[in-house]
Amino acid sequence: MDKKYQLFINGKWVDALSGKTFKSINPATGEVNAVVAEAGAEDVDLAVKAARQAFESGPWANMAPGDRGRLLYKVAQALWEKADMLATIESTDNGLPINETKHIAMPAMIDVLEFYAGLANKVQGATLASPSDRLNYTLKEPIGVIGAIVPWNFPLMLTMWKLAPALAAGNTIVIKPAEQTPVSILEMVKIFHEVGIPDGVINVVPGYGSVAGEALSSHSDIDKIAFTGSTNTGRLIMQSASKNLKPVSLELGGKSPNIVFDDANLENAVNGSMFGIFFAQGQVCASGTRLFVQESIYDKFMDSFVNKIQSIRVGNPLDQLTQMGPQVSQQQLEQIQRYVAVGLEQGANLVTGGERNLKAGNGYYFTPTVFDNVTNEMTIAREEIFGPVISVIRFKDEEDALRKANDTIYGLAAGVWTNDIKRGHRMARGLKTGTVWVNTYSLLDSAAPFGGKKQSGFGRELGLEAMDMYTSTKHVWVDLNEQGLNWYGV
Ligand code: NAP
Ligand code: MG
Repeated sequence: MDKKYQLFINGKWVDALSGKTFKSINPATGEVNAVVAEAGAEDVDLAVKAARQAFESGPWANMAPGDRGRLLYKVAQALWEKADMLATIESTDNGLPINETKHIAMPAMIDVLEFYAGLANKVQGATLASPSDRLNYTLKEPIGVIGAIVPWNFPLMLTMWKLAPALAAGNTIVIKPAEQTPVSILEMVKIFHEVGIPDGVINVVPGYGSVAGEALSSHSDIDKIAFTGSTNTGRLIMQSASKNLKPVSLELGGKSPNIVFDDANLENAVNGSMFGIFFAQGQVCASGTRLFVQESIYDKFMDSFVNKIQSIRVGNPLDQLTQMGPQVSQQQLEQIQRYVAVGLEQGANLVTGGERNLKAGNGYYFTPTVFDNVTNEMTIAREEIFGPVISVIRFKDEEDALRKANDTIYGLAAGVWTNDIKRGHRMARGLKTGTVWVNTYSLLDSAAPFGGKKQSGFGRELGLEAMDMYTSTKHVWVDLNEQGLNWYGV
């Protein structure tokens, strides 16, 4: 029997007011994984009201920051205890290999919660330089009710990037999961609730972007929207948010360059570039989808790169040995197939892959795919494919690499492989991206701010910087002068 899930509003599990439900599919089989209540605008409104009430009054609003931090830390401990269960649910919901959910995504996302739990009582304003007859200081206050809209590629981690700093700063939140992957988020929020996060502080409204997502981003009682998803949806969200001029932070798509110089450690560059594109089936916003290889080592690099790629184990995400599971949905699979056809049409050379992988099973499996003879002008080098497809482009020298790497509307991340320390730092400065990895790829740290430039969005998640997105600064001016305020000496 299919599992059933309801909306989570004001600490209670409830059906949608309309009674509607939708299906969450297991991408490894194409079969129904769970039936989930589908939030409409009226459910979103109830969730926002609950979050408002919890923000303005009640235990959360009155809790000392240290107690809030301690409670979040207790949640983190409960999440460690249930990490394997959550990893299995996440892998079943979106197809990530169990090794990646268990050993990468879960530890990373719990680490984020611990990081912000520790920051809850370190939010502080400043005493400003003031003359002796007055006192000026700032208060760092929570913003209020946060709306979080998240994608399907790393549901738990990308939710936690918003949830943890928002709660640490004392906000309340309404979360809209992606329609493909509501289940793991609902299971995680259940744990927050069991540990004792008060009612109304966290609310979850699964449903469709055009309905629940739109209702949340246009809601006049939401104080800020935190969004991760595609650049096109980001544009729509900014428009909706403009109705009450709510601030937005946008973590959007990318077409990240990964640049291999001829002085790099070749084996590390091959392994790192492979991980950088095929990790999570290529469904990573920062994945190194444009691989720039220096002419002088092109053939040598490609021989080893392609050889290794052909041995990637594609299969059941719950199998410990699997390196690549299925794409998240039929729709994503078809999008990848369309891009492969466009690549061929425009004259790119298909070196390996390029087709659905039916040997791996009936799910949405695709074969790791490499195109070479790609130019930076081709569609496959300009648009985000969001699948296991890499476009390899030659370059001559540092200047050529930098010019081509920056020639994109995106600016999320970049990789550089070189043993020349000066070159590494020069490239790090020259690349117009929010993150640069030197001699590694795709690594994240709770303390390291992450976000984009150009059309990859704005705002920085993680690190101390994320706290700025969930607090607002109030200036207080206190007159210490017994004379009072003398207007024209009257
Ligand atoms: P998406 O289609 O933009 O969806 C993201 C979220 O927005 C989903 O919850 C979606 O709901 C919702 N949504 C859709 N239309 C909406 C609307 N009109 N108003 C409000 N919400 C709406 O992205 P995706 O396909 O799930 O995820 C892949 C994209 O995310 C890629 O472009 C990737 O680069 C980007 N991404 C970026 C980062 C980063 O940190 N920069 C990280 C991961 C992913 P539905 O599920 O119902 O459509
Ligand atoms: Mg699913």
